[in-house]
Amino acid sequence: MKADACSNHPEATIGPAVSLSVLEKHPITDTHGRTIDHLRLSVTSACNLRCLYCRPGACPPSSRASLTDDQRVDLVSHLYSHRGLRQLRLTGGEPLLHGSIVDLIARIRDAAPDLSLAMTTNGLRLAEMARDLRNAGLDRLNVSLDTIDPTRYRTLTGGCVDHVIGGLSAALDAGFPPPRINTVVLRGHNDDSLADLAEWAIDRGFEIRFLEAMPIGQAAEFNRSRFVPEQRILRQIESRYLLRPLPSASGETSTRFVASNARHSGVIGIIAPLSKPFCGQCRRMRVTADGLLFPCLLDSRHISLSQCWERRSLDTHLADCLIDAAIAEKGLVGSLEQRTGMIKLGG
Ligand code: SAM
Repeated sequence: MKADACSNHPEATIGPAVSLSVLEKHPITDTHGRTIDHLRLSVTSACNLRCLYCRPGACPPSSRASLTDDQRVDLVSHLYSHRGLRQLRLTGGEPLLHGSIVDLIARIRDAAPDLSLAMTTNGLRLAEMARDLRNAGLDRLNVSLDTIDPTRYRTLTGGCVDHVIGGLSAALDAGFPPPRINTVVLRGHNDDSLADLAEWAIDRGFEIRFLEAMPIGQAAEFNRSRFVPEQRILRQIESRYLLRPLPSASGETSTRFVASNARHSGVIGIIAPLSKPFCGQCRRMRVTADGLLFPCLLDSRHISLSQCWERRSLDTHLADCLIDAAIAEKGLVGSLEQRTGMIKLGG
């Protein structure tokens, strides 16, 4: 994706009369008629876990400068006020390792009062941070938890599962709605215990979503070799639950079901980007910690937004132009050729 595409942008050539137009809302739309109003914003590429399916080895630091929080707030405020942004998900790396995350949330909330503001976290630091995150204005949490077995959790992620479980309780105590649990399914690691995990989650009022492992970045081969398709995931859950499909909301990536049996009922979801691609309803774009905009999770093409701050404050014309040019190339279906790792893309 080339920044020089912007030399043809009307904002760049028509001048001051048109610049007024940025004061109005121009939703970001792609050439397939999709409205792109969800942003996943990574605030760091650092992580305190080494999940086998995400980050199989050491992760070399980016050679690019990270965006500052001022730049992140600029970008979000602009997208919210002028480009129809409706939902922001903070991610990483591990977003709770970003030292100023609470302050960043408070600033975003201040700038964008009605924005739906969520975070995806591994939950390891939630016990100590949940209350501050909630007070700062964070609406919702997704917590990644692939197994509740301490030994399996350590093998898969290198971490201690008790900290995640403690973090989930702290989130409830802090007044968050029950976090959604994300579980990546891997053959030989957790695919024999999905119904147990569903039962554990439903007992606690958590919606759990099982994810097909995507072949992305350095973990691509590993994930292909451990891949468990949607049908096999469903079969496991159906061994213990009756599943009744729920209608899906616009932009929803998971197929959701009410799961019930004689003992209890709750909601589970399956996110199956390979068995059942949901690209047609995609509303997302991603910005990495170092300012790269990826229009599609499953496509390596990206542009850098860093140049938009060359004159200190955000050059909104250039940002609009770069974003529109990148989104114009968003494919209808991901190419499944993503060389950048999930730890940088943010999930
Ligand atoms: N550190 C945070 C966490 O663990 O939730 C946020 C970043 S993590 C990259 C975001 C989500 O992506 C997690 O739910 C993780 O399980 C998921 N993920 C990572 N690699 C994946 C893969 N190859 N396929 C599917 N999901 C993946």
